[in-house]
Amino acid sequence: MLSCISELISREVQDPIDHRTKWRSCSPQTPNDKLIDIGNQNNILDISSGFLHLAGNSLIPETIGKKCLEDAKVLHQVDKKFIPITAGRTLAVIDQHAADERIRLEDLRQKVLSGEAKALTYLDAEQELVLPEMGYQLLNSYGEQIKDWGWICKSHTQNSESFRRNLDILNRQQMTITLVAVPSIFGVNLNDVDLLEFLQQLADTDGSSTMPPSVVRLLNSKACRGAIMFGDSLLPLECSLLVEELKHTSLCFQCAHGRPTTVPLVNLEALHNQITKLGLMNEGSSNNKWHGLQRHKVCLERAVLRLNSAKS
Ligand SMILES: [Zn+2]
Repeated sequence: MLSCISELISREVQDPIDHRTKWRSCSPQTPNDKLIDIGNQNNILDISSGFLHLAGNSLIPETIGKKCLEDAKVLHQVDKKFIPITAGRTLAVIDQHAADERIRLEDLRQKVLSGEAKALTYLDAEQELVLPEMGYQLLNSYGEQIKDWGWICKSHTQNSESFRRNLDILNRQQMTITLVAVPSIFGVNLNDVDLLEFLQQLADTDGSSTMPPSVVRLLNSKACRGAIMFGDSLLPLECSLLVEELKHTSLCFQCAHGRPTTVPLVNLEALHNQITKLGLMNEGSSNNKWHGLQRHKVCLERAVLRLNSAKS
């Protein structure tokens, strides 16, 4: 189904006229011809050609919003990879790994930002850092943020600092500082290179950066490694819980690395309408349902027949 949809979309993007030409070229295929084709089970719900293709545009959901997830009904896990849901009029699938990664990431971020998973590690051997003048100025400008994350630095020669700084600007000299402590995030120590990268980011964002890039990478990787993988079997209850938690994330439609967690597949209402139309057309010409699936009423005679045939 997915490939049908993507094929359809790409075809429409490439050449909108092709759609019409195709429609015309299948005009000898009157609905009656189509009924013969319907005998082939593989063609059921094929929206890339045939009858359902005519309704192709309306079958593909345009968007899926966060609101859709709120009243989502969770179906059984598919292929140990996906969790299908019906959300409003849309059938969508959730990537179980991407969804769990998103849930874990937001939980990890919250723990770091609240300070719960953030600590200081004092270095056994203090570390000398040579900064260009620009780096030294950034270190002073954003001193609070840097200290707050856990990089504790000492400037050299406190007494003649201002004199030296002026001199250094003139000479464009490099400055030396001493790194005394580094941040420890979930027990992982960051280092001087991570500090320089954070300084660069602060400079690029005028100080509005909320999290050092090294911390973002650490959390992304931790969320990914801890998340449910493809191939993991999930009970229906686990699927429901996963969808429930996904609803409460702030960026529920993307994983830690920006890939989608949820893909809308088909607009069920439009599909039902098309199938009903197809059924109505079929009724006049044949007793068989177009899909070969017919709901029979409870029937005593049939039960007797079945019992008899089982006996013989
Ligand atoms: Zn991942």
